[in-house]
Amino acid sequence: MFDIFKIGIGPSSSHTLGPWRAAQRFLNSLQEGQKLAKVKSVQVLLYGSLAKTGKGHGTDIAILLGLSGEDPVSFDVNKIDATVEGIKSSQSLRLAGIYEIPFDYENDLSFLFAETLPFHPNAVCFLAEFMDGEKIAETYYSIGGGFVVKEGEETSTGEKVQLPFPIDHANDLLHWCMTTGMSISEVVMENELAWCKEADVKERMFHIWNVMKECMYKGTHTRGILPGGLNVKRRAAELNLKLLGKQEYSNYDSWISCIRKGGKDFKYILDWVSCFALAVNEENASFGRVVTAPTNGAAGVIPAVLQYFVVFCDGHKEDTILQFMLTAAEIGSIFKKGATISAAMGGCQAEIGVSSAMAAAALTECLGGTQRQALMAAEIAMEHHLGLTCDPIGGLVQVPCIERNTMGAIKAITASQLALQSTPDFAKVSLDAVIKTMWDTALDMNSKYKETSEAGLAVHIPISLSEC
Ligand code: SF4
Repeated sequence: MFDIFKIGIGPSSSHTLGPWRAAQRFLNSLQEGQKLAKVKSVQVLLYGSLAKTGKGHGTDIAILLGLSGEDPVSFDVNKIDATVEGIKSSQSLRLAGIYEIPFDYENDLSFLFAETLPFHPNAVCFLAEFMDGEKIAETYYSIGGGFVVKEGEETSTGEKVQLPFPIDHANDLLHWCMTTGMSISEVVMENELAWCKEADVKERMFHIWNVMKECMYKGTHTRGILPGGLNVKRRAAELNLKLLGKQEYSNYDSWISCIRKGGKDFKYILDWVSCFALAVNEENASFGRVVTAPTNGAAGVIPAVLQYFVVFCDGHKEDTILQFMLTAAEIGSIFKKGATISAAMGGCQAEIGVSSAMAAAALTECLGGTQRQALMAAEIAMEHHLGLTCDPIGGLVQVPCIERNTMGAIKAITASQLALQSTPDFAKVSLDAVIKTMWDTALDMNSKYKETSEAGLAVHIPISLSEC
């Protein structure tokens, strides 16, 4: 669960959080080799998709902050601009926050637009020169959802532990549910206990849910234009005001009470689901604090559907929120193992499609659906995202990304409802079959549609981004 849901900073898990983590790992590697204090200079090379859409996704910013020893979970998002400006203007940075080295942003950080490394399109190479003239290079790949692998190491990012219920495919999950009689979330919880105690799982999960709630609340109360040069106007705050009128509230809980007072009219609910998703992704696009679910670009779907469940389906009990998160995480994990959650590998079906499938299964279980119905809901949600391309305008996670989260959330709710009204025995497509189809589609998809901004909306709606 905590690999799929990670607290970080927008706008992209693969292009912001991943490179940030890569820079931190590079520092750790220097530290372990007792070389950190001996560094004379560092150069950074960005390849493939990290070069092509890196500026719009804040890859450069993430690398600078990572090299400076900052952490994406705790770093104050209000200090990003000042910190980065300080590095650029002083032409120096404090490696790990301690060792000052010269760093010329223009020359020491290169976007290699025409070069791609074979292992993965999101690659970053760190070159370090030491005082004694020795040089080293380390390459890291940001493989989606904030996961990072170092050149030569296995792609498995998890700690190797013996799980009571090993799961690689949806069929494995179903097998364990059928043989034990447990729900999906119960099976997943048993597996989580292989890593930590139940009380810790709950505490960490509710911390994640609180970050999601804060993100929705902040996003629905912040106006303005999103950064990046596309001049996209934030809409969540305006919609929030339209829906609530002049009602007064002072915090998240009183806000939710006001929303509940509005009733359960279809259009009212539809507007709110969109509003929740818009809020998260506007925060994400503004370098705000978000939770990968399973990625930053798709971070709005899970909070929007969970908040829909909490507000409009009386799902406010802690147990059912936990149930939702556990189920959603397992579906995301199965997609990651059987296909990809990286847009640079599979297009937007790997981000919004996966998040929608996660939310659909989770909602279905929480609304009383059987295990088979929950898996069916995930299958339906993905089936109708197959082939979805990634072509963000200007390399910014704004258009189509922000609205796309509203679509993913609504499709998840529809998929859940369809599954709840269906008999899974008659379903023609299994979740494993759709995951395989998604992966095959990813392999066949023209690379222009995999987070490069070289096709689709990105070429039909061009913008000029300033070099700074
Ligand atoms: S188009 Fe989809 S996959 Fe691509 S950046 Fe936007 S949300 Fe992510």
